[in-house]
Amino acid sequence: MNLEEKNSREIEEFLKSKGAEVVGFASLEGIKNVPKEYPNSILIGIPIEKEALKTIYTDDQSIYVESMKSLAMKLNDIVLEGEDYIKETMNYNALAMSRERVAKDFEGLASKIPHKTTGTRSGLGWIGRCALLISPKYGAALRLSTILTDMPIKTGTPIDDSLCDDCTDCQDVCPVDAINEVKWNSRREREEYFDAEKCFEFIKKEMQRTHGKSLCAKCGLACPYTKEYLGIKTDRDLIKEI
Ligand code: SF4
Ligand code: SF4
Repeated sequence: MNLEEKNSREIEEFLKSKGAEVVGFASLEGIKNVPKEYPNSILIGIPIEKEALKTIYTDDQSIYVESMKSLAMKLNDIVLEGEDYIKETMNYNALAMSRERVAKDFEGLASKIPHKTTGTRSGLGWIGRCALLISPKYGAALRLSTILTDMPIKTGTPIDDSLCDDCTDCQDVCPVDAINEVKWNSRREREEYFDAEKCFEFIKKEMQRTHGKSLCAKCGLACPYTKEYLGIKTDRDLIKEI
């Protein structure tokens, strides 16, 4: 086993012991806004609980909203522990993209180094029409965080093009047409395929209307890959269950 493989295996075991379900490894060389001292990144993912996701079709998504908050806290703890482990035990530099650091980095609605970029660079998924990372196993159901590092790691094979094919399921359910015809590829800016402002404004209104109980998220649930993770075939199956 070479050094890259050994390091990757060690940090993956550590992160999984802390609760990460998915760990991916990516080279970020050449990606905009990535500090030169951290050429590599580690993506950590935890799937949203199935029962919480299924409430998206109702007007009371409280369980989903709470689940998203608690996953965000859990991911935050894992990446910060991962940063410490890389620095103190493995003797490399690392920077967790913690909530506080990402919030400082926000420009408009997009983080300068989105976790989704690490997702595509590590080969764990592609960006769907709905601008979410779509993983073949979990669809849009993964919550993500990232650790930047200079540690040599065995990086995955990047995905550069959408695998959405002719599917438009997320576009069809979006109540405000925030999703357009153009499909993602790694050369495109988000504005070309997704209107984040329209989506954000709608979610804000939904939050007000339902007193914080609904976030929308219909596009993510409409994705056939998410439905496969949930074990449902049609919307009717889902409605029967809730
Ligand atoms: S979250 Fe709702 S408003 Fe935003 S893109 Fe998805 S379906 Fe459209
Ligand atoms: S619903 Fe279809 S178009 Fe949208 S992200 Fe999923 S596969 Fe892609």
